[in-house]
This record gives sequence, structure tokens and C-alpha cells, in this order.
Amino acid sequence: HSKAQGRNICHFFTDAMNLGMSRRLQIEEQLHGALAREEFQLCYQPLINIARRAIIGAEALLRWRNPRLGAVPPDEFIPVAEHTDLIIDIGKHVLSQAIEQVAYWRGALSPDFKVAVNLSPRQFRDTGLASFIEQTLARHGVPGNALELEITEGVLMGGHTHINDALVSLNRMGVHIAMDDFGTGYSSLSYLRSYPFDTLKIDRSFVGDITIDAADRELVNATIAMAHGLGLSVVAEGVETEAQLDYLHSRGCDIAQGYLFGKPVPAEAFNTIFGQPV
Ligand code: C2E
Ligand code: MG
Ligand code: MG
Ligand code: MG
Repeated sequence: HSKAQGRNICHFFTDAMNLGMSRRLQIEEQLHGALAREEFQLCYQPLINIARRAIIGAEALLRWRNPRLGAVPPDEFIPVAEHTDLIIDIGKHVLSQAIEQVAYWRGALSPDFKVAVNLSPRQFRDTGLASFIEQTLARHGVPGNALELEITEGVLMGGHTHINDALVSLNRMGVHIAMDDFGTGYSSLSYLRSYPFDTLKIDRSFVGDITIDAADRELVNATIAMAHGLGLSVVAEGVETEAQLDYLHSRGCDIAQGYLFGKPVPAEAFNTIFGQPV
């Protein structure tokens, strides 16, 4: 009896692992050529100035729809792209698209609109990153301050000097640098001291229970105070309710992002939400 059970458990794990393997391999296989087949779409989620209740920009979030695999979420395909170096070309595509889009929005919607783009560690190990961004901004006639780059401590781990050089030269172009998912990783505080950050994004895992959990409230309060003390502006991620927004407003949080204001949508759909009261 117990032997049979053991065998079943064994089968269960083996099947699960095989499925996991083949899913990952399928993703890797399909990711090659996905760019050429135009399977990616960039979506944009509004960033709201809390005090003015106005849309001031958008975060670009990548979507991938593949004929075999369907819609694959970025938390699943970005790590594979990162591991296989496909992220270099995909990342350049995202930057080009987002910069072209912000050039349009600055003309059509608001002259100081900005777009935030996520960058992964492998992209920063490419020594041509800063000059690629500089050239792309110039090609579309937009200043550096139209762009914010969101990075996590994974980019900074290991402390390569050329990463610091890239951040410093991007900073000189006026490009803003944001620490994404703040509070979830390691050593974030020392990185805040050592690199030229402009913005701190509080991870949504701290924002979700802000109205019911006193500990989360204290962590958010302390984070906002620290960020402001360092001269950084603060974005709260994952704002889903008016009650959360009211609390963040009362603590002086600068910017909110979340389903309360809108999910990530394609650029055309974004045009119609912009200008409506938020
Ligand atoms: P992130 O940069 O922290 O992006 C925020 C994530 O939170 C997005 O998930 C967004 O859809 C989700 N979100 C926003 N508001 C809410 C809310 O109110 N409630 C909930 N439950 N979720 C909310 P998404 O689009 O699935 O992206 C996941 C992650 O994938 C991103 O996290 C980012 O790290 C990565 N990613 C997405 N696009 C790119 C890209 O173009 N390049 C790179 N390198 N990474 C990307
Ligand atoms: Mg982000
Ligand atoms: Mg985040
Ligand atoms: Mg994240």
C-alpha cells in the first residue's frame, strides 16, 4: 500500500518536473523569433500625481501572445529572455517603442509626460545601453527627462563600475532612475546611497493591506519619510482602493499606480483615458 503510494508521489513529482521543464523549453523555443513575428505588444499603465489627481505619465509593461502558448505573463518570459540574452533585442525594442510613444504623447497630450521602462540586469551589462538610449531619444527629439528607467537591486548586485558609469551618464542626460519593487529584495538601502536614484517605487505587497495592517502602514510611512529625506519622489504600486489612496495622500506619497486608475492598456486605449478626471 505505502509502496504504491510512494510510487504515485514519485510519478507526481516527475510529471510536474517534466511539465515545468517542457514549459520553460517551449517558452525559450517560442521566444526565439517572437520579435520578428511581432508577437509583443507594449501596454501602458497610468501614473497619477496624487495631490493633483492628474495623469503625469505611464509605465510601459510588455505583453507576449504566442500562437502555441497563448498569453505568457512577463514574470514567466522575462526571466527566460534574460537567461538566453534574448532580452537585449527585446529590451531595445521596448525602449524604442516607449520613446517613440512618449514623443507622440508629449506633443498630443502633455509637454511633460513621461514614460517608465523596466530594465533587467543583463541589459545593463551591455556597455552600449546608455548610448543606445541617447541615440533613440535624439532620433525622436525627446529630452532625457521624458524617460524613467525602473531597476531592481539585481541590476546593482556585484557593483560593476560600468553599471555605475551607465547610470551616471543616463542621469546626466536627464533620464530618471527609479528603484522598483522597493522593500522586497536585499540591501536596497545601501544602493539608495550609492547610485543616482530619482524615484522609489514601494512594492505593492506593502500597499495592499495598508488600511488594515498597522505594520505595513509603519513601513510605508518610514519609506516615504526616508525617500523624501533623500530627495526622491515616491510611487506607490498596486493602489486598488480610494481608502488606500486617501491614506497615501495623507502621508505625502507623490504618485500612485494601480488598478484604481487603470490596468495596463495598449497605447491607443491610453489616449482615451487620458484627460478624463481620475
Ligand atoms: P513591475 O515593474 O513591478 O510592474 C508592476 C506590475 O504590477 C505589473 O505586472 C502590473 O500589471 C501589476 N499591477 C499594477 N497595478 C496593479 C494593481 O493594482 N494590482 C495588482 N494586483 N497588480 C498591479 P506585469 O505587467 O505582469 O509585469 C510583471 C513584471 O514583469 C514587472 O513588474 C516587471 O518586473 C516585468 N516586466 C514587465 N514588462 C517588462 C519589460 O518590458 N522589460 C523588463 N525587463 N521587465 C518587464
Ligand atoms: Mg516596474
Ligand atoms: Mg514594481
Ligand atoms: Mg515586479
